[in-house]
Formats: sequence, structure tokens, C-alpha cells
Amino acid sequence: MTSITLHGAVGEIGGNKILIEDGSTKLFFDFGLSFGKYGDYFSPYLQPRRWSFIKDYMNLGLLPDLTGLYRQDYEGRFRESSKEAKYDGVILSHPHLDHAGFVSYLRPEIPIYCSPGCKGILQSFEQTSWGFHEYTRIKEAFKFRESKRDATKMVKDRTSTIPREINLFKPSFKLDEFTIHPFPVDHSVPGSNSFVIETSEGSIVYTGDIRFHGRKGDLSDTFVEKAASFDPVLIISEGTNIDEPTTFGELDLQQDLFPLIETVTGLVIVNFPVRDLDRMRSFIEAAKHNDRSLIISLRQAYTLRLLEENGVTNIPRVDEVGIFIPKKGWGILNNINYPIEIQMQDYQSWENEFIEHPNSVTAAEIHENPDKYIFRCDFAELKYLFDIQPPKDSIYIRSVTEPIDEEMELDQRKVDNWLKYFGLYPYKQLHCSGHASGYDLKEMIRKINPKSVMPIHTEKPADFSSLHGDVILKKLGEKYNL
Ligand SMILES: [Zn+2]
Ligand SMILES: [Zn+2]
Repeated sequence: MTSITLHGAVGEIGGNKILIEDGSTKLFFDFGLSFGKYGDYFSPYLQPRRWSFIKDYMNLGLLPDLTGLYRQDYEGRFRESSKEAKYDGVILSHPHLDHAGFVSYLRPEIPIYCSPGCKGILQSFEQTSWGFHEYTRIKEAFKFRESKRDATKMVKDRTSTIPREINLFKPSFKLDEFTIHPFPVDHSVPGSNSFVIETSEGSIVYTGDIRFHGRKGDLSDTFVEKAASFDPVLIISEGTNIDEPTTFGELDLQQDLFPLIETVTGLVIVNFPVRDLDRMRSFIEAAKHNDRSLIISLRQAYTLRLLEENGVTNIPRVDEVGIFIPKKGWGILNNINYPIEIQMQDYQSWENEFIEHPNSVTAAEIHENPDKYIFRCDFAELKYLFDIQPPKDSIYIRSVTEPIDEEMELDQRKVDNWLKYFGLYPYKQLHCSGHASGYDLKEMIRKINPKSVMPIHTEKPADFSSLHGDVILKKLGEKYNL
């Protein structure tokens, strides 16, 4: 008997946690954070306490109330934690946090399966981002030890880390009752996959997040062709853009960038998603075309390094871009009164390797030759414009999604104020979605031709009835037997 239970992404975009059971085998596909529900209750100033993370999230419907799933150091703070893990693995479609963000709460002995690109991006979150990110290793919480200086005193033990078991995808692999076939597909982050899962009751397809209009659209086409050959009984399909008939593609965007930048004599400033390397490629090409170079952040440079170390190819290389080295809190970068070792102490250890990199670029250099650069600048980096002082005839291109909630609108108001201050308002908007259009979803389902469709990751699941005759709509946590 095979069953499917959706523990997230029902009637909302993101928070995917799909439990598939067959006999005694239990697998999760994705274990993501629902940004919508999270934002309904929490803000940077209203955070759950660490000991009650899991309990509070369960109460608010952000995490399912299951035993043998969660880390014992946290679960053990509010209830008895079962001795053994009761789940056989978590398979990640891609590293966006609405699919992988809650892996941090899982027991380390439950193995994770993912692509090398997914692992590299999760490591980049772990090492370079603010917040609770424990995907590839966990730091044991609430552990104390004797102080080394004074054995009569107890101190917090911050040294205890446990690595998670991370298995990289093979072209296909068996987990007890299941045979899993991952297929790399096109999406707005490296390392994205869709799946065919062979079960005792037939094959299930899970799309993860997918699109057909990016640089790797041909991968998605191959997946559709292969998935159809399994004659699946069910597709669990994302539907983010089900009501968008067509989509503007990544290459259309790149094409529009060329003439837009040609007319600019000052600095081109752009914000695009930090880990969207397809978009980074579009801006690298637009820069080359206009005899400029794209300047990326330290975090982006480090992410490229991590991906390279994980063997990910076909992504931008650090030697194709410039790396922006900002003045940080002490403001002593390139100040000859301070030796380089002291200057470096103002930076995180992962940032240090780039400070004297041949491609490193400072604000002063951008200020001197603004027409030679495209400067990538996100919300938190707007303050560096004081050091750069963009000249007249500079532009700002907003290459991220339109604000979709109150918090994003508030942030955008702040961005607008900065842009007005620096004479960069009104800005240009140029973005393309990471998700398939309604037309592409319809074509995908028609070609794969499953017996039934289970919509997920969409605010309009009922709209799938226009794409297929047998649409299964289940409530959050309601079990569906194949
Ligand atoms: Zn998603
Ligand atoms: Zn995604």
C-alpha cells in the first residue's frame, strides 16, 4: 500500500513536505519552510525561543506533529523524544528554503539525498547567512561542559557538532520499497531536480519547482519525456504560475538588457536574487556586450567557490566577474596605517580569501570608472552607495520579483527612498519567473499523461481542473492512498 500525505504547500506557495509511505518505508520529499505562514506570526523582532522552536511551529501548523523525526536536543526540551528515528530519508528537490529550510530541525541520523548543487548552496546558507541553518551538520544545543580554566564551573559546549548523512544523487537509486529517479531540471537556483518514484502501486512524478523558459529549459523537456515513459499513476505538480498564460524567458531578459545598458554613461546598479546563477549569467553577458564587468558580492563569490568544490559545472566562474570588497564596520580597508592582518579581522573568515583576490574591486575603483561596471547591490548593500557615489546618468535595475506581501512592500519603500536620495529613481524593472507558466504546466501534464494530478505549491489548486480530468485535492496532513 502506497500513501501520500502533504504536510505543507497546500493552497500556498512553498513549505513543501511530502510524506510518501510504502509498507514500512517512510520518505519525505522536501522539508521546507512556509514563508507565508511564518510571516503571519513572526518577524525579525518576534522570534520563537530556541527550546520551543519545534513546539511553537507545530502549534501554528508550520511543522507536522510526528514522532521519531525531530532532533532530540530540541524535541527533548518539551517532550520525550523517541529513541529511534522513524523515517528512512529526506529527498530534496532543490535548495530554496521553502523546500529545504526546515531540514535544520531533523534528526541527524535521517539521511538526506540531494544533488551536488543543492548541497553547495545549503553549505553557503550555513556559512554565510544569518539565522538557523544546520543542513549538513548540527551543532548540539543545550550541552554544557566543565570550564577548562575552572573545573568547578560549567560552561556552554559550543564545540559539539554532528555531521548529517548527505548522499548525493545517483541517476537512480533504491530505498527499500522505492526506486527513485532524479532528473535535473530548469529553475532559478542550481541543483534543481524533478523525480519519478517507482512504488509498489505504480510510478509517482514529483516536479519540485520547475520551469521551461530558463537557460536549462532543455533539461526540463528531457525530464518530461522520461517521466512519460514510466506511465505514472500520479503527478504531484507545482502550480505557482498556473494563472499566468505565458512567461517572459531568461534569454528575453538578457536580450532586453543589452540595449538598456548601452545607453547608460554612468554606473549600472542591479539587484537580482543572490543565488540565481542564471540571472548572474544574463548580467555577465550584458556586461561583456557593453565593455563592463559585473561586480558581485563576497557571499556570491564564496557560493561560486563552494559549488565549484562540489563539482558543479556550467555556472559562472569567479574569474569572469569582479568581487566587491566593501569597507565594513571598522572602515580600515586599504588604510596603510593598519597591516593587512588587522584589516582582515574586520571580515568573516570565509571572506578573507577574496580580499587580495586579483578580481577584487573597491568602492573607490567603481567611483573612478563607473562606466566600466555593473554593480550588483541588494537591500543590505545599499549603504555602500555612500562610498561609491554613483554619478548622474547612473541607473538601477530591479531584477527580483514584485513585492508580494506587506513586509516586502515596506522594504521596497525603503529601497525607493535610497534610490531617490542617490538620484536613481524611478528604477527599471526586469525579471523573469522561476516557475512554469500555465501553458507550460498544461503541456507538461498532457505529455506525461498521468492518471491523476495532485496540485501543490500554488494558491489556486482548483485551477488544475482545467488541465486534467482527475485532480486530487487533499487537506493538510490528510492521507491519500494510491
Ligand atoms: Zn518553491
Ligand atoms: Zn524554488
